[in-house]
Amino acid sequence: MTETSPNLEIQARLLELRKVLQRTSYEYYVLDSPTMEDSVYDALYQELQAFEAQYPQLITPDSPTQRVGEKPTTQFVSVQHHIPLYSLENAFASNDVITWQERCQKGVEKQEFLDSVCELKIDGSAIALTYEHGVLVRGATRGDGTSGEDITPNIKTIRSIPLRLNLENPPDRLEIRGEAFLPIAVFDEINQERSQKGEALFANPRNAAAGTLRQLDSRKVDKRRLDFFAYTIHLPSALGRGAGGEGNPQNLSDITSQWQALEFLQTIGFRVNPNKKLCQSIQKLQDYYDYWSTERLKLPYMTDGMVIKLNAFSQHDQLGFTQRTPRWAIAWKYPAEEMPTIIEAVTVQVGRTGTLTPVAELRPVLLAGTTVSRATLHNSDRLAELDLHLGDKAIVRKAGEIIPEVVRVLPELRPNGATRFVMPTHCPECSQPVFKPEDEAATRCINLECPAIVRGAIEHWVSRDALDINGIGEKLVRQLVTENHITSVADLYDLTSDRLQTLDRLGQKSADKIIAAIAQSKTKPWARVLYGLGIRHVGSVNAQNIADNFPNVELLAMSTPDAIASIFGIGEEIAQAVYEWFHKDANQDLVQRLQSAGLQFVREKKDENAIAINPNIAGKTFVVTGTLPTLKRDEAKALIQGAGGKVTDSVSKKTHYLVVGADAGSKLEKAQSLGVECLSEEELLKLISSIT
Ligand code: NAD
Repeated sequence: MTETSPNLEIQARLLELRKVLQRTSYEYYVLDSPTMEDSVYDALYQELQAFEAQYPQLITPDSPTQRVGEKPTTQFVSVQHHIPLYSLENAFASNDVITWQERCQKGVEKQEFLDSVCELKIDGSAIALTYEHGVLVRGATRGDGTSGEDITPNIKTIRSIPLRLNLENPPDRLEIRGEAFLPIAVFDEINQERSQKGEALFANPRNAAAGTLRQLDSRKVDKRRLDFFAYTIHLPSALGRGAGGEGNPQNLSDITSQWQALEFLQTIGFRVNPNKKLCQSIQKLQDYYDYWSTERLKLPYMTDGMVIKLNAFSQHDQLGFTQRTPRWAIAWKYPAEEMPTIIEAVTVQVGRTGTLTPVAELRPVLLAGTTVSRATLHNSDRLAELDLHLGDKAIVRKAGEIIPEVVRVLPELRPNGATRFVMPTHCPECSQPVFKPEDEAATRCINLECPAIVRGAIEHWVSRDALDINGIGEKLVRQLVTENHITSVADLYDLTSDRLQTLDRLGQKSADKIIAAIAQSKTKPWARVLYGLGIRHVGSVNAQNIADNFPNVELLAMSTPDAIASIFGIGEEIAQAVYEWFHKDANQDLVQRLQSAGLQFVREKKDENAIAINPNIAGKTFVVTGTLPTLKRDEAKALIQGAGGKVTDSVSKKTHYLVVGADAGSKLEKAQSLGVECLSEEELLKLISSIT
């Protein structure tokens, strides 16, 4: 990267980043009480690293990128580490790992993959153990890497740390390192107890472990059941360092690789994490990472990634260390569910019930494996809570299938002159004034003719759980409403194929298909129709429940809120919403129009899901053959069956119609010889949509 001179703005930004990272790092390492998510810390850290790479003249020795951890300020005795404890370089994607491997290969002048040991990255606290003549004499925290705290009495409470090594002729001094951690179940118990006592909760098991290790009263530590996995053995310098074997070492002098070190640690009395793997290719590293990305969630302790270490100690020696990290190892972290990014703008969406939802338009950010560029801000109460300004750096969360949301903003990184975002007083869709009931968080547009509300109502009506009308998506609805073809769901039933064909990019076949699907919706049961009306709080389950208790719309429309609320599972709020809906003139007109169009507003006597019969199709037997121009064969079958027809596989004298597509074979010949009527897809759709 080329060195250029930084302007004042960049210098100020760099100082701000350092200030934030220094504060959070102190809270994390010294107070064991982080105020920032690790992924957010990592992202800000990377931003600082990038600045410093561009302007190396601005690097200072106290920059968080130049040091490991923090020097702790505690009442424990400070101890100097004989061999420093390093941090690890982070990888966030497979490319980072490939680049690291290539760099290592170059460093040791090899062109083939360097065998690597994969270990789980245990989310705990690094501990340095010193054994003299095989006896544990000191346990210390990592601290700032060169000096830590002597916490020997606390270390001795950890049962998986041997007080004496199972080793004949132990060397004068042996250094072992590993991770002290709290099992998740113990962490939960501790937090439960703390919450009962009204004490501050630990943010995560790692901080709980670090906090526990630095308890002054080791009886309390004992109660907390810390555990330990060993992963490093520092061989006495008198011993040679070999090229990396795999055999089981009997003596310290046999150890030439990380794999052997792990095996040996186990034989001398340590707990070593069993989920280690020796890998011989990038693909194997990737497999390990992929496998543990989900399996780790089943482990009784926390892991936040994997650590990859070159196997051969001779290669470790060749590559050495940077100021902070070994060059021969890297930590590959699992994707974060929370990350910082910039809020570039806020748009306001109007939903089908008129609710205004502010949405943050983000600088795209990778979250939980997907790129996120928009996140919900919920409502104006939430906006006020966040105190969101345009241009703010904000933390965005996306977990699993959850809609991305803005968790909080970082006011300390706010650009100068940024303005606070406030909700509009008028609807962004129809420009009518909006309304915010005192007791609700939502701001609403109450203009029933608002195009957003009309579009929302139609999209809901055609959706799968409602009237399930195929072929009418968001784009088509927008076009139909914008061009004034429809202003309510009832208008759908006045549409014709010819009218649809006047729309952009809609050919005759697609238009016919849509008209057939609209006609088909007239057969959908009363419960679906009720759900499709989009009454507030009436989801598909409530709609079914209400329809089960009210055999027709007239009875429901005449009912009182109390009568509706007497249905098991229907609360007062829902009952009131239903009552109010049926008492609006516009809604009564809508019901009437839909009734005249033929929609089902009556519970069917025999079978709720029974299908209204199309006399052209009911009782007739169809066979479908060849490739139809637009319908898949299963779709054609479903349409026929939906209208009361029967579909069989082979043509016989009993077949009424053969629906024929391209490349039809023997079935067509047989139908012709038997005089069975043949239909094209278009003719079939016409027959279905001709329902009366
Ligand atoms: P690190 O935790 O990313 O990686 C190094 C550590 O990994 C080692 O010291 C060791 O303790 C641990 N480790 C676990 N399993 C291991 C294994 N099998 N082999 C080797 N090491 C293993 O680095 P760090 O320097 O301890 O901490 C930096 C990280 O701490 C940052 O990336 C950030 O996520 C977090 N942090 C967060 C905040 C905050 O405010 N949230 C502040 C400072 C640091």
